[in-house]
Amino acid sequence: MVPGARLVVLGKQGAGKGTQCVRLSHHYVVPHVSTGDMLRAAVKSGSALGEKVRQVMDRGELLGDDLIMEMVADRLSEPDCRARGFVLDGCPRTINQAQALAALLSPGDVDLVVDIEVPTAQVLRRLAGRRVCVDCGANYSVTSPPKVNWTCDVCGGEVVQREDDTEEAISRRLDIYEKQTAPLITWYTERGQLARVNGVGSPDAVLRRIIRAVEDRREGSSGVAARRS
Ligand code: ADP
Repeated sequence: MVPGARLVVLGKQGAGKGTQCVRLSHHYVVPHVSTGDMLRAAVKSGSALGEKVRQVMDRGELLGDDLIMEMVADRLSEPDCRARGFVLDGCPRTINQAQALAALLSPGDVDLVVDIEVPTAQVLRRLAGRRVCVDCGANYSVTSPPKVNWTCDVCGGEVVQREDDTEEAISRRLDIYEKQTAPLITWYTERGQLARVNGVGSPDAVLRRIIRAVEDRREGSSGVAARRS
């Protein structure tokens, strides 16, 4: 049986995080836990909280750390995550969230934090063409649309441009990324938990690089364990 995994995936908007996280969750047979998807589900529910979340997301700003961490803690405590692990997508996004996540997983920890690296000029091009399914969140683009008339290949939902993929919201999200999320790269590097992966190339090529990084880490740590025993 394939061993599970506890992975965090970082990368700026448009780096291909969502696409790779779906693939990684299939590869390791673990749930894909996406804070963006959870928040979009809250918006869709039409609740009062959902309406507040929508306003923040549409502006391209971040939700509060407490709300996010409560949501993530709830999800990671479910039996599927506890049994096999998870691929965490969209969290942590601030040092505060990273500290809260470490406390949540303690005495265990994540296996690896993967940073998918793509130059900003390229993510801007990708984001302008990005399209998503309103029902299941599957990603498409103007250059790789669904097979039939903007209808999702996976679930039949409508495929549209995201409300927060406007030029203004994208540039605000990239700014916030630089200020709040990029410091996480240093934070995780200092803890020896980060692997940087080149995100330029086909989705299959990038996936292979990420899996190699996870396997290298596993072999490295079992090597250390073997040397210690
Ligand atoms: P992207 O990475 O393209 O911004 P996501 O789907 O991950 O897309 O997130 C969309 C929006 O959801 C963010 O712009 C933010 O408003 C909110 N969000 C998602 N995750 C978090 C988080 N960990 N902390 C705060 N806000 C978040």
